Amino acid sequence: MGYEGLYRELDMDVERHQELMDLLFDVYKELFLSRKNRPQGMAYFDGLMAEIHGKRIEELMEIKKQGKPLVGTFCIFVPEEIVVGAGGACYGLCGGAQFSIPDAETHLPRNICPLIKSAYGFKLQRTCPYTQISDVIYGETTCEAKKKTWELLGKLHRVYVMHIPHKKGDVEKDLWRREIEGFMRQVEELRGSPITYEELKKGIEVVNAKRRAMRRLYSLRSANDTVPITGLDALLVNQIAFYDDPERYAAKVNELCDELEERINQGISVFPKDAPRLLVAGTPMAPPNWKLHSVAEEAQAAVVAEEACIGVRYFRDDVDTEGCETVGDLLEALLERYMKIDCACFTPNDERVQHILDMCREKRVDGVIYYTLSFCHTYNVESKKVMDALKAEGIPVLRIETDYSMEDVEQIRTRVEAFVESLR
Ligand code: SF4
Ligand code: SF4
Repeated sequence: MGYEGLYRELDMDVERHQELMDLLFDVYKELFLSRKNRPQGMAYFDGLMAEIHGKRIEELMEIKKQGKPLVGTFCIFVPEEIVVGAGGACYGLCGGAQFSIPDAETHLPRNICPLIKSAYGFKLQRTCPYTQISDVIYGETTCEAKKKTWELLGKLHRVYVMHIPHKKGDVEKDLWRREIEGFMRQVEELRGSPITYEELKKGIEVVNAKRRAMRRLYSLRSANDTVPITGLDALLVNQIAFYDDPERYAAKVNELCDELEERINQGISVFPKDAPRLLVAGTPMAPPNWKLHSVAEEAQAAVVAEEACIGVRYFRDDVDTEGCETVGDLLEALLERYMKIDCACFTPNDERVQHILDMCREKRVDGVIYYTLSFCHTYNVESKKVMDALKAEGIPVLRIETDYSMEDVEQIRTRVEAFVESLR
C-alpha cells in the first residue's frame, strides 16, 4: 500500500487494485522468480514488474506535472515517436488479465475478444493506474469490437479514435497520412505547443534505438543451438517495452544482450541442445498473459520467436529519416514505416504469410503454434492461409484458440505436449 496516496489521486479503487496485485505477484513468483539459470540481467525487468504500478507511475506523474502528454494506446499503429518527441510517454493499455473481465461483461457482450474486455474492465474497476493517469486514450479501428468499445470507453475517459486503413492502396495511404497528422496535432494540443523538427527527429531516434535493442535480443535468443534465455523471459522483456521509459529500456535490453553473448560464448543454454524450437504466431499477448509460453516451455520446447505485436511486428522496421529535412518529411517517413505493419486487419495480407515462412527458416524452428484469442476474427480467419502455407513447406503447426481463463490450461497442455513430442 506504499502508493495509496498516488492511487487515490488517480481515483483508483485501492482495495480492488491490491487484490489484483496480490494475484499477479503470486503468478509472477511461480512463473518467473522460481526459475533457475535465468540471466542476471533479468533482475532489472523483475524489478520493473515489481514496481510497474509503483515507481513507473510516479515517473509518469512527474511527466504529467511538467505538462507533457501521457497517451495510453491499444495498438502498435499509434506512432509513439510523436509522443516521445513531445517529451511525453506513450504506453500500452491492452488488457491481459482475467481479473477485470467479469466487470467488463456487465457492459460488453461475452463473445468478444478478451483483450478488449480486460482493458475495458480495468477502466470500469478503476484498477489500472496507466488508464487512470492517461491524458487521453487512443483507440483505433482495427477490428469491429474495438471500434465500438471506444464509444463506451469514451463515456468513462477522454478517448480519441484513429482510423486505421484496412488496405494498402494510395487512397488508404492518404487517409493514413491525415490520421498521423491529426495525431500529431492532438499531441501538440495536449502539450500546448508545436513539436519541432528536432524534437520529432529525436523521438524517432529514441524509438528506433529501442527497436534495435529488441532486434538484438531477438537475434541472440536463438542464435545457434544455444538458447541463452527462455522464451518466457524474452516475452516479458518484449512486453515491458510498452511500459518502460524507452531510453532506459533500450540500455537495459542491450546490457542483457551483452550477457547473452557471454552465455552463448560459454555454451550456457536454458534448454538441451535438441529441444524442439517453436515459433508462436498470432494475436498479441498483453501482460500477464503468459499462459502459452509457460505451458510450451514446461513441455521442454524452446519458444524462440513471436510473430506478434509483442514480438517481431513491433520491432521489425525502423523509421528511415535519411534525407528528411522538415517535419513533413519526418511524418512521411513515419507513414512509410507504419504502412509496413502486417496486422491481420489488412486485406489482402500476404506479406504476413511470407514473413512467417521467412522467420521459420531464419530461426530454424521445428514447429509453429498459431495462437489466437477467442473471437479475434481477423487472426482466426487468417489462420487458414498461414497454416496452409506452413503445411506446404512441411512445417508442423498446431492451432490454439483460447482466452485468459485458466479453465482450458490442462487441455492446452495435453495438446502442446503431444505436439512437442511429435517434433522430437
Ligand atoms: S494485432 Fe493489429 S490491431 Fe492488434 S495491436 Fe497489433 S497491429 Fe494493432
Ligand atoms: S486480438 Fe483481435 S479481436 Fe482482439 S483487439 Fe486484437 S485484433 Fe481485435
